[in-house]
Amino acid sequence: MAEVKSNKHNSIIAQWQEKIKIANRNNIFFHCRNCNHEWVDSSFDAICNNCGNNNVERICCWQFPDG
Ligand SMILES: [Zn+2]
Repeated sequence: MAEVKSNKHNSIIAQWQEKIKIANRNNIFFHCRNCNHEWVDSSFDAICNNCGNNNVERICCWQFPDG
C-alpha cells in the first residue's frame, strides 16, 4: 500500500506544480540590473522595456508574503 500512497503524493505535487506554473505565468516581478527599472510581466523571458537589457532579476509574486 506504500506504493499507492506515494502515487497519491506525487499527484498532489503535480497539482501544486501546475498551480505554481499558472501563478508564474500571470505575475512575475522583474527588476532590471542595468537601469533598476521595475515592472510586472507574464512572461519569464521578458527583457527590460526601459533599456532593452535582458540582465533582469525575476521574482515570482506568489513568493511575496501577504501583507
Ligand atoms: Zn533596464
